[in-house]
Amino acid sequence: MTAPYSGSCNCGAVTVTISAEPVWVRQCWCGQCQKAAAGSATNNALFATDAMTVNGDVAWKGYTAASGNTVEQGFCPSCGTPIFGRNSSRPSSWVVRLGFLDGDHDLKPTTAIWLEEAPEWAMIDPALEQFTRQPPPPPQAP
Ligand SMILES: [Zn+2]
Ligand SMILES: [Zn+2]
Repeated sequence: MTAPYSGSCNCGAVTVTISAEPVWVRQCWCGQCQKAAAGSATNNALFATDAMTVNGDVAWKGYTAASGNTVEQGFCPSCGTPIFGRNSSRPSSWVVRLGFLDGDHDLKPTTAIWLEEAPEWAMIDPALEQFTRQPPPPPQAP
């Protein structure tokens, strides 16, 4: 399936429609993501915010990451479903948690990051590009 993508939380209070393809899809094993994802990794698709239409109220909770950037996690204040992540270093795009997206969207991680914080039992697909911490930023467009 290709864009548009749609997402909804477990209680239906928050829905999102996305009219573009993701920039990337990654799995993150950092400690904060493990807390948001029941001890496992978060699986995240980065989309431009101007391609998203959000309906309903999203609650945000932020922290300062190892990089010094402010990272915020967005979730449904009613049912707690993880919805978004955003980072002060890239204000024009947010990640959407893959579990929030509806239906057979076919999006899957191609990269796994923060493996140095992954639990011993984590099964990392060897087909994924792997980074012990944050991957280097992409080259700037000319
Ligand atoms: Zn909800
Ligand atoms: Zn993370």
